[in-house]
Amino acid sequence: MPEKLTRKQFLQVAKYNLLSLLINPPINLLNGIVERLRVTEPISPIRRLNLEQQQFLVNHEIRRGKTSSPNVLMTYDDWPSTPGQLASILNAFKGKGYATFFLLGDRLNWLTTGLLKNYGWDARLIRRIVDEGHQIGMHGWEHQRMTKMGDSELSHQFEKWFNVLSQILPGYIPTVFRAPYGDVDERVRRVGARFGLQHVRWGVESWGDTAKTRERVISGVMGQNGAVVLSHMHRPYDVSQAAEIVNALINNGFRLNTVADGMSPEDQLPG
Ligand SMILES: [Zn+2]
Repeated sequence: MPEKLTRKQFLQVAKYNLLSLLINPPINLLNGIVERLRVTEPISPIRRLNLEQQQFLVNHEIRRGKTSSPNVLMTYDDWPSTPGQLASILNAFKGKGYATFFLLGDRLNWLTTGLLKNYGWDARLIRRIVDEGHQIGMHGWEHQRMTKMGDSELSHQFEKWFNVLSQILPGYIPTVFRAPYGDVDERVRRVGARFGLQHVRWGVESWGDTAKTRERVISGVMGQNGAVVLSHMHRPYDVSQAAEIVNALINNGFRLNTVADGMSPEDQLPG
């Protein structure tokens, strides 16, 4: 039976408990506070990884998808010159396969600040990428060389990018990035990994600036599984031949996967 405390004794015990709590807070209470601070951080949502997991991402740049079956990882970089270009690419994939879109932060920012509104732009187009099963990755803020940036400028690029994407797609957790020009080194990959991002290189370039684009893609991926194809949302033939490219790949027995679905098992973060 617990002893009944007098009012004075109760206050003494309460004072003691409060003091000991202040001096030596229980670890779970502290974690709770830290967790709450994290939730209110403006740059979420970020895939939170421990140091070991981050090191895995640093060591596993994605250069090729899974080789166990015929599949292609189509990727589209930068930003379309007109919203119609992105819509065309999305239409080409509809019901047929999936791709990955590496987007520039400052263009996303134009979208959220309304700068692009009078040009037929709407944030719904960016949401359509995800709604239709494709993947979005980070492609820097203003398409500058990341290896030339100082540490804080580099981190800032990622922070700003996450910030603006979360305004358009709250709750979407990006997992990949492609440095502009593929200009990446271990330091850049490490900063990316702090933001939960794995770097994606490519093996085949479409070029997208001549009528030979379709041929380049098809001949580039033939005879190999898991090729990563670099295309651009603003290059005329990457857009106008998108449907032909998608159909030709499918007719040749390939599946079109996002990086997340088509990546090789050895590049997959364990756990
Ligand atoms: Zn680019």
